[in-house]
Amino acid sequence: MSVSEKQQWAKSRVEYWWNRCLEAFPEVQYQRFPWWKRFPTVEFSNRMSKAAGKANTGLHRIRFSNHFLTNESKSDFDQTIGHEVAHIFADRLFNRACKHGKFWRLVMTRIGLPPDRCHSYASTPPRKRRASTIVVNCPCGQANWPIGKKKQDQLLSLQISDTKIARCRKCGHDFTLGEVITSISEQLA
Ligand SMILES: [Zn+2]
Ligand SMILES: [Zn+2]
Repeated sequence: MSVSEKQQWAKSRVEYWWNRCLEAFPEVQYQRFPWWKRFPTVEFSNRMSKAAGKANTGLHRIRFSNHFLTNESKSDFDQTIGHEVAHIFADRLFNRACKHGKFWRLVMTRIGLPPDRCHSYASTPPRKRRASTIVVNCPCGQANWPIGKKKQDQLLSLQISDTKIARCRKCGHDFTLGEVITSISEQLA
């Protein structure tokens, strides 16, 4: 699929998700201003490298990143499209900046999408994701261990081994160095 074909596809998905919103909230027809009759305008940007999409309710416009559009799977990107459409729809319907709050989540749920703030992208440059803390979960499921960037670097530079480096306060599980390094590298992959 060429870039322009992908862009055409993205536009059609904006219309699809917009229609899903209309079906999910039939009460829009009673809105005083018929904003809902207009599909959001769609633009594509070569400069967006951090976000896959950005909605601007005031301009009734969604801008997508060509980088993400070409590097992500269709199903991942389609969720981004629904996510951004839901922003505009929620802001308009509830007449406020909904952000990722309960109104936006309500729209997401009703159109059948997971109301996650954002989803992870395989093609996100690792450098960007390294800035954040990684959470290593204990097998007991009751505790987790946040590891900051500095510590991640330190651990990743070590040789994988069975050395015990921490103990879960809930269940007493001993985390081995190998286990923690594996978990960190999986999350960075
Ligand atoms: Zn968002
Ligand atoms: Zn535990």
